[in-house]
Amino acid sequence: MAPEVVAAMAAASRASVDIGELQDAASRRIAEATGAEAGLVTTGAAAALTLAAAASIARWDVAKMAALPHADTFPRDILIPRTHRTGYAHALAASGARLIDVGHNDRGTGAGVRGLEAWEIETALSPSVVAVAFSVNATSIVDFATTAAVCRANGVPLIVDAAAQLPPKENLKRFIAMGADLVAFSGGKALGGPQASGILAGRRDLVASALLQQLDMDVAPETWTPPRMIDRANLRGVPHHGIGRGFKAGKEEIVGLLTALDRFVIADDGKTNAALEARLKSIASALDGLDVKLVPASVTGRTPVLEIAVADALAMSARLQRGDPPVHLSERHSARGVLTLDPQVLLPEHDAPLAAAIREALQ
Ligand SMILES: *Cc1c(COP(=O)(O)O)cnc(C)c1O
Repeated sequence: MAPEVVAAMAAASRASVDIGELQDAASRRIAEATGAEAGLVTTGAAAALTLAAAASIARWDVAKMAALPHADTFPRDILIPRTHRTGYAHALAASGARLIDVGHNDRGTGAGVRGLEAWEIETALSPSVVAVAFSVNATSIVDFATTAAVCRANGVPLIVDAAAQLPPKENLKRFIAMGADLVAFSGGKALGGPQASGILAGRRDLVASALLQQLDMDVAPETWTPPRMIDRANLRGVPHHGIGRGFKAGKEEIVGLLTALDRFVIADDGKTNAALEARLKSIASALDGLDVKLVPASVTGRTPVLEIAVADALAMSARLQRGDPPVHLSERHSARGVLTLDPQVLLPEHDAPLAAAIREALQ
């Protein structure tokens, strides 16, 4: 994390604040940065997805909030395209939602060319469906407009997992502008916030329901003043601790995330990537003699990475992890004999020891 983010978290740790008021302030800042009506700081994109699902199921109903994750007596189905079934879909299901697969996996398996079609989603819609989930990336984005149009026409919230879709920073606004009702971003990836932070941005009523299910609710109903985004007239009572109580965001995470967001919004993506590329080049030159390739941001579509080709990628990764210092490279391309150095949360002072450790393990 940047020194400014660390300093903001340290300052927050010495302040006493009402978390609901702080989340209201965060909501205004996230709304500005994303173009959404409201926003919430969560403990990560996965937590944002659980809260998004819980909000879509419960809305303003305090009895449903109290029941989650046990939701078998009321609507709780979330449609999810088969190609979007990532390991993070568990976060949606953790709310009590039942995930219903739609479409097929022709693109994922390489069997065919067709993606998701409107009629496939429409056929699966029923009164028990509370939301549609969409995991956005460079491949799935082609189906976004169709999905958003079906959701809009049927009044069903569209939950978007955009955890790792930053940079480019335009993506902060893009999915909301394209019709998403709720969007989850990681705070601990390229955004540069605390590792255990994230953003849920979207429609005010849904974000408010998510916040209600995350806040500490050990309150006296007579004196409770809800955060401003929560319209108490919509509630028939005061909720108990909700499904999200176990992953409440602390003031340090909230302030740290907002500071990182400010920096990210102001920063020039081109310059940030150029600086990362320069650092990767110097790591690459320290790995002289090894088969390394810099893949620039213009090719990854995100941050630049360094690909290191090795004979047995997983065996090498295991050796790196056992080293001193331990090194964890991405194994996402291990099947083609490549370990990937993704520098988005790497500090400049780590570059030299990292290069030395890789050199030692690989030679
Ligand atoms: C990283 C990631 C998440 C989880 O994000 P956290 O902020 O670590 O909770 C969810 N979905 C996708 C696609 C991711 O890449």
